[in-house]
Amino acid sequence: MSLIQDVIARVEEKDPSQPEFHQAVREILGTLEPTVERHPEFVKAKIYDRIVIPDRTIMFRVPWVDDQGEVQVNRGFRVQFNNAIGPYKGGLRLHPSVNLGIIKFLGFEQIFKNSLTTLPMGGAKGGADFDPKGKSDAEVMRFCQAFMRELFRYIGPDTDVPAGDIGVGGREIGYLYGYYKKIVNEHTAVLTGKGLEYGGSLIRPEATGYGAVYFADEMLKTRRLEMVNKVAAVSGSGNVSQYTIEKLNQLGARPITVSDSNGTIVDENCIDDEKLAYIMELKNVRRGRISDYAEKYKATYFPNKSVWEVIRDHGMKLDLAFPSATQNEIQEDHALAMVQNGCYLVSEGANMPSTMEAIAVYQSHNVLFGPAKAANAGGVATSGLEMSQNSMRLTWSREEVDDRLHGIMRSIHKSCLDAATAYGRRGDYLAGANIAGFLKVANAMLAYGIV
Ligand code: NDP
Repeated sequence: MSLIQDVIARVEEKDPSQPEFHQAVREILGTLEPTVERHPEFVKAKIYDRIVIPDRTIMFRVPWVDDQGEVQVNRGFRVQFNNAIGPYKGGLRLHPSVNLGIIKFLGFEQIFKNSLTTLPMGGAKGGADFDPKGKSDAEVMRFCQAFMRELFRYIGPDTDVPAGDIGVGGREIGYLYGYYKKIVNEHTAVLTGKGLEYGGSLIRPEATGYGAVYFADEMLKTRRLEMVNKVAAVSGSGNVSQYTIEKLNQLGARPITVSDSNGTIVDENCIDDEKLAYIMELKNVRRGRISDYAEKYKATYFPNKSVWEVIRDHGMKLDLAFPSATQNEIQEDHALAMVQNGCYLVSEGANMPSTMEAIAVYQSHNVLFGPAKAANAGGVATSGLEMSQNSMRLTWSREEVDDRLHGIMRSIHKSCLDAATAYGRRGDYLAGANIAGFLKVANAMLAYGIV
């Protein structure tokens, strides 16, 4: 058994019941084989064995009181995975499916993603199995306060700087930050994704979606193609999907789908800016269901189907795919149907939205595949820019942040291609992203000695 296979087997044995974490470890380490031969110093220092174990895992109880006066309790997590190249950085997810394995998969991926951004940020992730859906603002506030009542002791502007993720947007960051400020009595950059009035960065809300489209545009250029008139399938209807659609429209592409956990909308007439404004109001203010879209506009609603199931079952044609909802939403049969229906580019806005079998389909069909840790790194990169502005106590203009984001996405694209070529995997963005992200962290770990 190779050294890498040995490390993977040990993770599977020692961390049972964490299938998403196993998948992330297999996906990343599986592409690091070429680094083993080239770097005996990593093998000697057992970097591969060390990098799959978090620096620390924090799990805590989150008790709060609902509007009926009943006590509720949730499970809270923060996995501080690796701070070799900078303070821990990574989002908080609030979703009923959250468990330790999911937070570990996200935290592990975050190490390599943050490394790729060129900014000094370590990898972490956190969250709770709290479901914000159907909760009043007051309940969400009380939950966020209870969550921060424990989390505050482990985070800090030079220690660990959380941000948003599924179920954590501007409202939740406001409640979390307000409570932190109250109990610590400091106005510091301990969270990113903050409101503009209290330290947030322009373009942060847009950054993940915009970045995924910038990355796709770079990939298209390698084949001398451009976005204009390309039909794009986008899943989800939250933060990442909304700004993916906005940027696709700006570049002249034709986004035609959105979804939520109840179903999918297909609008062959294109989801233009006006329709997007409706989606933003529906999802961010009214917190309603995407099915309402089909009542307002001429579009087809497919209840209980994902975008990828609609493509598979109804033969929907597409050029580009932007999975922007959740992990493992695209499986092998979906990927095969996507390719058969014309898809030649996948840029992952969500984290690990494609299973390993789906990725194998992209690779065997020459699909331009931007893996999450490269394609969606614009979000955390702009969080890094928010931290820089907070440290300098100044704010950059929209254009300045957007230019920097665009530059970072170009640089990530180049790093992926350069690393892939240097390690004998020309054109393989997945291997390139993993290798480039890994080398920087591994070299830093090596420099520290055995700690
Ligand atoms: P939001 O909570 O804003 O939106 C999530 C969207 O995905 C919603 O439409 C939601 O539907 C749908 N969704 C969530 N879980 C499921 C599920 N199990 N099945 C079907 N649909 C689902 O989250 P974000 O847009 O912030 O995050 C989306 C993805 O992007 C996640 O994978 C996240 O980790 C990743 N990401 C986000 C970043 C960011 O900056 N926000 C940065 C990098 C990655 P519903 O409304 O019904 O819940």
